[in-house]
Amino acid sequence: MSLHEYIKKNDLESIKKMTLTKENILAGYSSNALFLSCFYKHTEIFIYLTETYEITKNDMFIIFNVRYHIFFYACYYNCKDILNYLIEKFNVTKKDNELLSVIINYDFHNESKEIVMKIYYEDECKYLANNDYEKLLERFKIEYTHVLFTSNNTCCICNDNSTCILECNHNYCMNCYINYYYIYNNPKLCAMCRKSILSKHLIVDSSIIKSNNPLLNPLLNPLLNPLNIY
Ligand SMILES: [Zn+2]
Ligand SMILES: [Zn+2]
Repeated sequence: MSLHEYIKKNDLESIKKMTLTKENILAGYSSNALFLSCFYKHTEIFIYLTETYEITKNDMFIIFNVRYHIFFYACYYNCKDILNYLIEKFNVTKKDNELLSVIINYDFHNESKEIVMKIYYEDECKYLANNDYEKLLERFKIEYTHVLFTSNNTCCICNDNSTCILECNHNYCMNCYINYYYIYNNPKLCAMCRKSILSKHLIVDSSIIKSNNPLLNPLLNPLLNPLNIY
């Protein structure tokens, strides 16, 4: 039987008895032994082959129209054990832009992608945890107008107090807005009315902005009069 057949059958003991080289493991591009171990979610075989044949991070790039990495397939096929193993072994951090951005920009959603999102958006997640919304608005280049909210409308996702209003007039809290649309990269449609929010214009409650900029401070700038709220 061939290596590929043993992988399919999850027969690690037979693979251990084979005489193989690194080239054998990597042969076959998009059907190589690592890809198949990932595809069948056979984590033990994946780790055995990687460790025994000293496969490097760079060896794991396979040619598939463009350069894709096994890291991408581990994520795409939601092999969380293989993904976590690769993150740990190769110390994948937000600096690994080539690995991460391919996944971030590819249109699919599963738990593995969330693991990758948390690495890619490490700083943004910290801003969110610290309620540092001004940095987030700046980071994602979101245009906003800044007014003091007087109504008690609630977020259409979590029911918390609303801290921003989209152009379609639907209310969100800033956590849901940033998480839903930017960190987890959902389709850019309002969760409530499905209108496009691509224009990125928000009305934001000034109470959540820490700015000392007088232009953004409603107490110092009469143009930001709270009565302007609809
Ligand atoms: Zn919310
Ligand atoms: Zn809406």
